[in-house]
Amino acid sequence: MTTLQPTPAPTTVPGLPPLAARVRAVPSSVIRDLLALIERPGVISFAGGLPAPELFDVEGARASFDAVLAEAGPRALQYSPTEGNRALRDAVAARYTERGLPTDGADVVITTGSQQGLNLLATALVDPGDVVLVESPSYLAALQCFALAGAKLVAVPSGEDGVDVEALAALADRWAPKLLYTVPTFQNPTGRTLDLANRQAVVAVAERHGFRVLEDDPYAELRYSGEPVLPMAALTGPGRVVSTGSFSKILAPGLRLGWVRTDPSVRAGVVVAKQAADLHTSTVDQAAAAHYLAAGRLDAAVDRTRQEYRRRRDALLAGLPAALPPGSRWTTPDGGMFVWATLPEGWDTTALLPRALEHDVAFVPGAPFFPGDPQPSTMRLSFTTYGPDAIAEGTRRLAAALAG
Ligand code: PMP
Repeated sequence: MTTLQPTPAPTTVPGLPPLAARVRAVPSSVIRDLLALIERPGVISFAGGLPAPELFDVEGARASFDAVLAEAGPRALQYSPTEGNRALRDAVAARYTERGLPTDGADVVITTGSQQGLNLLATALVDPGDVVLVESPSYLAALQCFALAGAKLVAVPSGEDGVDVEALAALADRWAPKLLYTVPTFQNPTGRTLDLANRQAVVAVAERHGFRVLEDDPYAELRYSGEPVLPMAALTGPGRVVSTGSFSKILAPGLRLGWVRTDPSVRAGVVVAKQAADLHTSTVDQAAAAHYLAAGRLDAAVDRTRQEYRRRRDALLAGLPAALPPGSRWTTPDGGMFVWATLPEGWDTTALLPRALEHDVAFVPGAPFFPGDPQPSTMRLSFTTYGPDAIAEGTRRLAAALAG
């Protein structure tokens, strides 16, 4: 019998002091705990959100690591600057510039995954008791970073059309927040994208009310249809919008390479926080990634990934009408990794998950993604891990499970 209990809270050991209040107060990620339970052989899992390993360019990565070790030798294995490898920072900056956000390599700090970027920004920007506004639903592991920094999280209503700007302004009036956290493109968990008008309106509220925006944008380059939208940082002056990005979804997540793009005032805080966290991101991994980009391999790899993920998205969208009960709705994302489904009122996807597992199929119940009131009839379905045939079979299993 699968139970959906989170990792138990840390217990107190007699004679030893308790753990720090900040980790006692922040629960383990229900989703990561859940994934540990449901990722078993035979299950077609729409839960995990893992990039497809068969698309990783192993040969290209090996060639770059070989070249770096042959050419730089011991230097590739030495300590290196906290801000990161200059060639890699320049390459990240060039990609932003191409996307319509002029950027210099000096604006970029390389981080150990963009998750570390979120954590460093929480350390650099948030004092205990500060209010951080977050979309609802939102990416849970970011909320953990803000909670660990002692933030009070306030949910901003947001839907398929983006952030509810009137509600955002009213909440800004009421709470005088420090920061709004948003995943503007192909959001985890909903797959939805803020259009240009919504981005402009959100940034205008931030300017009026004097808060910063953290745009967490790891999926922006995974677009399968529609037109790219300008990053939010391109819509305002320097410093207002801090951006994080990642090589996880376009190259390989195991490299743990991401970045923060920001102005010098915030960058100084990020660098101090990073010195305390890990001194710098792996020298050899950064050098190999810089070599890989300089060799021009990334664009071809991203193109292959986009083509395959488009087929997988289409397979999931084709299977959902027969799989979900009448009256269900779901997003049709132009990119990224996730579809978000809302079943009719009265359904509870957390209660459904054990039944789905009996049919060897899995999803993530939507409730844990809500910082405020959860919507129990929602679920997140990831479409990147399996090919179209397995996805079609997964949706048939889902239909059988939901039919009872
Ligand atoms: N932000 C969002 C919205 C994500 O979905 C993820 C990964 N699931 C991350 C940040 C962190 O990714 P990474 O540390 O691998 O760059």
